[in-house]
Amino acid sequence: MYAPPVQRLITELSKLPGVGGRTAQRLAFHLLRASEEEALALADAIREVKERIGLCEVCFNLADGPRCRICSDERRDRDVICVVEEPSDVISIERTHEFRGRYHVLGGALSPIDGVDPEDLKIAELYERVRGGEVREVVVATNPTTTGEATALHIAAGLREVAADITVTRLASGLPVGADLEYADELTLGRALAGRRAV
Ligand SMILES: [Zn+2]
Repeated sequence: MYAPPVQRLITELSKLPGVGGRTAQRLAFHLLRASEEEALALADAIREVKERIGLCEVCFNLADGPRCRICSDERRDRDVICVVEEPSDVISIERTHEFRGRYHVLGGALSPIDGVDPEDLKIAELYERVRGGEVREVVVATNPTTTGEATALHIAAGLREVAADITVTRLASGLPVGADLEYADELTLGRALAGRRAV
């Protein structure tokens, strides 16, 4: 129905989350109508982000150098680490302005059914960080979902083994159960963070 390059664009766009076939087609036609400059700015932005953005060598947050903005910030507390599933969760927690510590991004949640085991996440790297002795508290802020809760329990048990003197806390209840952190509003998430309790 379409010339092969147009079909290719529609196919690639339809792979984006939340974009179905109809929307992909609309976006493709929008780009075809747009000026060359405008359309190529989008292509360049995608290329640049893939070429320049990697993972922080300390916390595995997104970074445009070896270390992310937060790990490079000397004003951030070193004795509290907040463990999250994805880099987008760092943004959600930063928006609350309730947290002054540092992060550790796991890269997902445990889900044996989907083949996600502890080795697939940055869990060993977390244990390595706390072994350094600087860390006093680890806030486990995985999502309040089945996989997020399973991950939190696994990490809490593991931390008790590698560093028994560390306080492990979990976000207070009040977050919508079954939803991801990124959907929680700042006020709710801020309260959950402020009211965190030991597990
Ligand atoms: Zn970092």
